[in-house]
Amino acid sequence: MLYLSATGIKDHLDCAYRLYLRREKPKSAIVSDDAIFGGIVHEGIEKYDTYDDALAFGLAEWDRLKNDNRFLPTKSKPPKSFRKMFKGYYNSILEEINADGFEQAERELKFKIPWRKNEVMLVGKWDRVQENKLFDWKTGMRPPDKYDLRDFQFCFYDLAYELVYGQRPEQFYGYLYGGSLYPIDIPEQLRYNTVKLVDRVADELLEQNEPLRVTGYQCKRCFYREVCHNELDNRPIPA
Ligand code: SF4
Repeated sequence: MLYLSATGIKDHLDCAYRLYLRREKPKSAIVSDDAIFGGIVHEGIEKYDTYDDALAFGLAEWDRLKNDNRFLPTKSKPPKSFRKMFKGYYNSILEEINADGFEQAERELKFKIPWRKNEVMLVGKWDRVQENKLFDWKTGMRPPDKYDLRDFQFCFYDLAYELVYGQRPEQFYGYLYGGSLYPIDIPEQLRYNTVKLVDRVADELLEQNEPLRVTGYQCKRCFYREVCHNELDNRPIPA
């Protein structure tokens, strides 16, 4: 069974070796402070109903994960403001989508959907599902541009949601730093493209060809750059 997520598909298309390392050597990832910060914000929003509780959790969790090491010489500050992110969510966005607090919503809802006669499973997690709406929380500091709003992730979620619920969702990019929501519009061409792309990547991965590296600028942001380039520096070419 092949499990495919939006991230996995993007990894494979950027560099097949990255997806291989994500699957085979997940512990070799060097996770950036931005990624740790984003994970904590998502967990705070998932677990807590108030700004104060989420902020207390966020700051304590950062200290636990980043500063709870007596060998580190200095304390490391979060790369962005937890206050600003949680204010954006609790004081602005949540007020807009659930003003009276009575809306039923699922948070961090995982999905696992058979694709192509159970040969493939489409997997992922929706940050918030409320009625027929999907919300995705983003922790970048700048507002999204039109390319961010057409990220493949939204196309993949659109497809997955329709397969589960039989109708397409309204989707929103939740810009936490600015406390605002941006609607996602997926043109028909892009929906067509998404189905083709999922199939093509599934075909390539099911063929089990040797995963090959695509080195270049993308290595600088790759979580697996250390193990990958160490291998390149030290390992002989396979016979
Ligand atoms: S460091 Fe570069 S070549 Fe290596 S897995 Fe990452 S993206 Fe691919």
